[in-house]
Amino acid sequence: MVPVMAHHPLDSDQLLRPGGAVPAELRAHAVAAKGFMPADEGDALYDAAIAASVDCPGLALLEVGSYCGRSTIWLAGAARASATVVFAVDHHRGSEENQSGWEHHDPTVVDERIGRMDTLATFRSTVYDAGVEDSVIAVVGQSSVVAKYWSTPLALLFIDGGHGAEPARRDYQGWTPHIAIGGILAIHDVFPDPGDGGRPPYEQIFLPAMASGRFELRSATGSLRTLRCIA
Ligand code: SAH
Ligand code: MG
Repeated sequence: MVPVMAHHPLDSDQLLRPGGAVPAELRAHAVAAKGFMPADEGDALYDAAIAASVDCPGLALLEVGSYCGRSTIWLAGAARASATVVFAVDHHRGSEENQSGWEHHDPTVVDERIGRMDTLATFRSTVYDAGVEDSVIAVVGQSSVVAKYWSTPLALLFIDGGHGAEPARRDYQGWTPHIAIGGILAIHDVFPDPGDGGRPPYEQIFLPAMASGRFELRSATGSLRTLRCIA
């Protein structure tokens, strides 16, 4: 039997091997969680986070845009296996495309009292149910404001927050300087072909990162890109 949920990560070589399989029980929780991260891209994110933690031991992971915690589970699993943590940044009020009347709206994550989205309680349940609460630190706030006060170097930065041009540009400018050399920048919803989806993650994050000289492309899975920080 595969030791899918070893209580101590050092019990299992498999959990520490870069590219090793995502623990099955963790993956089952991720796949069942509400959210937008496709399973194969979540697996690639896990792999990137393990690899980043091997090259930047002890450094934290950080996610911008957690929504209900689906992608967070993969990152938390990698953080647990690497004896680090993932900071999960989100204001939990939803992106433009999550609001009422838009394509990705879910009426079950609305705070009826104030008529606005609130994904924090669902996020918390998701993380608890997956058994990874000890590896996750929720940071509730505007990404650009949190970034302004942030000063901790990161093994991995995953950007999946606001997908408008301005939020994407601010996430690139505010967060990418905190990635340590040898660490990884992961970007979701990168669509080089305009027919496949919105432009900002590609134009405001992926292209500037590739042009900066600080990153080299490491992997592409669906709309997920992972870039290694080389300078
Ligand atoms: N990674 C998630 C999906 C994220 S959806 C998954 O796997 O399912 C995008 C999230 O970004 C939303 O929850 C929204 O509240 C958050 N967000 C958008 N703009 C933001 C901003 N400026 N600051 C903080 N969070 C933001
Ligand atoms: Mg996304």
